[in-house]
Amino acid sequence: MAGLTVDAIDTYYGQSQVLHDVSLNVDDGEVVALLGRNGAGKTTTLRSVAGIAPPRSGRIQYDGDDITKLSTFEIIRRGIGYVPEDRQVWEPLTVAENLEMPAGRGGEWTVKDAYDLFPTLSDLREAKAGDLSGGEQQMLVIARGLLGGTDLLLLDEPSEGLAPQIVADVRDALVDLKDDLTILIVEQNVKLALAIADRVYVLANGRIVYESVVDNLDADDPALREHIAV
Ligand code: ATP
Repeated sequence: MAGLTVDAIDTYYGQSQVLHDVSLNVDDGEVVALLGRNGAGKTTTLRSVAGIAPPRSGRIQYDGDDITKLSTFEIIRRGIGYVPEDRQVWEPLTVAENLEMPAGRGGEWTVKDAYDLFPTLSDLREAKAGDLSGGEQQMLVIARGLLGGTDLLLLDEPSEGLAPQIVADVRDALVDLKDDLTILIVEQNVKLALAIADRVYVLANGRIVYESVVDNLDADDPALREHIAV
């Protein structure tokens, strides 16, 4: 496990500045949630860490090393797993093949650990990934994100568009993961985020506007709600 420090990053798409002076940290072993309304810059923050949308200024450190200018390939190799919101599985391949490929890169997690975490996937191991439901595909991309030496998981809106029962399954799996992994999760579902996170940040218009430890923080907490402004 290893910690992440994002220090005053400014990230642009072309001429358009999306992140303004964003700083946050995820300590080794912590689960941190990034909340905020649509378009606030949550996905862009994850993309900056993953090297897909590198910041124009500021610094990102992981495990004590400056990773700001590294390629995505190099960042993933260092143990950062990125699970984007689009749930892209390798459709023609089976569930087992989707998992065996990244597992081949080594790391602590095994395909068996993935099946223990998501028993549904174990039952579906010979199914084509393209035939899975949205919830099953979400489980598969999370499981795949763990394999291949991941210590820090960047997770983008795992609950989006899923039925409540499936959201509960994903939540339970993430609670199980808490002890073994450092996680930075983007979520619109505040209840889910508070159920698993140790701390939260809220982004609005590309700036961090609120930060709190979760402890007894309630999803209806006025200070939190004011900043999320749902
Ligand atoms: P959502 O929940 O809708 O994904 P978000 O908080 O993750 O929202 P981002 O996806 O990071 O927000 O988007 C932040 C801003 O950047 C938005 O105004 C969005 O329109 C813009 N943006 C996102 N991706 C691109 C891109 N590839 N090119 C240009 N602008 C982009």
